[in-house]
Amino acid sequence: MHRWFVFLLSLLLAACGEGALHVQPAEEWLGDEPEAEPMVQTFREVSRAVGAEARRQCLKQTTGQNCDFRILVDLNPQASVNAFQTLDENKQPVIIFTRSMIESTQNADELAFVMGHEAAHHVLGHIARQSEIASASAAEFGRVAELRGGDAAAIEEAQKLGAQVGVQAYVKDFELEADQLGTIITYNAGYNPLVGARFFDRIPDPGDRFLGTHPPNAQRVQIVRETAEQLGLSQ
Ligand SMILES: [Zn+2]
Repeated sequence: MHRWFVFLLSLLLAACGEGALHVQPAEEWLGDEPEAEPMVQTFREVSRAVGAEARRQCLKQTTGQNCDFRILVDLNPQASVNAFQTLDENKQPVIIFTRSMIESTQNADELAFVMGHEAAHHVLGHIARQSEIASASAAEFGRVAELRGGDAAAIEEAQKLGAQVGVQAYVKDFELEADQLGTIITYNAGYNPLVGARFFDRIPDPGDRFLGTHPPNAQRVQIVRETAEQLGLSQ
């Protein structure tokens, strides 16, 4: 799962294109069996409300960025629990939820919170920032390998490692930033981020591993609580 998360994965996805997915716009998703109907309705409502608020935040906080979010559902029944954001070829922000991700949320607040978090990554320009960091760190590691007299293969290896180390150094901060703005987007869209963040209770805790891509869940819940308090939301 980027599980909402690793957006190395979303970069990869951007490279693969949507052709590999069975995606459908939230608004056009009808659901193919009657019992799916409430879930489809909820997803559509949340997409509308969070999409509109994410657009508002994006217009307020960025210049020259495409703020028209497309929210899609991946209907592939084999697709794992996942939600992620990426940019399409026109730099339009796209948020994709797999069907199993939608099914794994327990209420509209959780769905809104995950969506708000993904939208926040775009508003905060994380894909671009991450690739800048990766390039700078790759170049630096490459230079060191060159100074040590490494051959072309050694330099390339060093660059790859550099890109990885650079991204790892920032990825947890990006997640917490996205949780913070995601809390605001969720709240302004009419949902309760404190209820939404209970989603963390059910996902495996990455703990505080050195090379982990995600902050410990407790740290994420903490930032949601602090932000909610600033919004005047009672715990
Ligand atoms: Zn994230």
